[in-house]
Amino acid sequence: MAQRILEPGQIETLAQRSIPRVRIPDRAQLFAQRGARLRALAQGSSIGDYLSLCAILADAQHAALADFSADLPSAAQIETAQTHRMPPIPAASWPRTPQWRATLQAICIAVALQPRLPDEVARLVTHLRAAAPDELETQADILLGTRASEIDAAVAPFLMAALQVHWVALSSRFVADAVQPLDVPGLCPLCGSLPVASIVYAKTPYQGYRYLHCALCACEWHMVRVQCSQCGAVGKDIAYHSLASASAADAAAPDSAAVRAETCEQCHSYRKIFYQEKDPAVDAVADDLASLALDLLLGERGYARASGNPFLWQAAER
Ligand SMILES: [Zn+2]
Ligand SMILES: [Zn+2]
Repeated sequence: MAQRILEPGQIETLAQRSIPRVRIPDRAQLFAQRGARLRALAQGSSIGDYLSLCAILADAQHAALADFSADLPSAAQIETAQTHRMPPIPAASWPRTPQWRATLQAICIAVALQPRLPDEVARLVTHLRAAAPDELETQADILLGTRASEIDAAVAPFLMAALQVHWVALSSRFVADAVQPLDVPGLCPLCGSLPVASIVYAKTPYQGYRYLHCALCACEWHMVRVQCSQCGAVGKDIAYHSLASASAADAAAPDSAAVRAETCEQCHSYRKIFYQEKDPAVDAVADDLASLALDLLLGERGYARASGNPFLWQAAER
């Protein structure tokens, strides 16, 4: 009897069909888990104070999201977006509800109530609480439109925290199977933002699959492993680095770190990749922030971050 052998392309098609393409964030858990993770990572970290501050932001995000209501696009709007392979809740142009500014106020109050607040942070939240709505909307336009040269790096994490609440209130109401991928695999299929990092999951139905995590709406979308999430290069151009492998005596030993960076020789950029199998509590935003030392190592090795962390912005170069 003749055996039917599948061509590589057919195998890929079959495999793709069974992989869940999108993971929708759980609004009841996302920020609470991130806050807990940030607090755990703050212990013994050289940037523990900053991680603790971000944990307060995440807790305030969790509280604010509980009663944040945002209108979804209509069925017709979603269909139009999908027909044109556009994101249905685009970061840069979606009409924001003013409730995001109330969320920002709540986040600032939560921070202001903390004991032993550094003077600089106290000044920032005082400034933000008194800021005119127009000023905040302009800053939000700059952040979401990624006009990097105009971003106020000091206040950006607070604004991003409030804007994340707004977009998660939207994204968490989508149904994963109904979300269409975009033509650009490196952009969030719901809001069009860049991913902060990626996670390889350990539990079914996601076991062994890698998902990119949106920095704004927390939607996660599948991307095959050993492929650059920035330029799409594959194979020998892709390499992995970790703090453990950098200090290992045997450079050829298998890397079992939960936090690694995936570098690309084509575009010389990297994004981090977290392995849930190695650490079940990994969180894309929290673990990316806490592994700043790995960013420094990659910088020394000549690689640039493909995209930033919503809680850590570089001051604009002038
Ligand atoms: Zn998104
Ligand atoms: Zn690349």
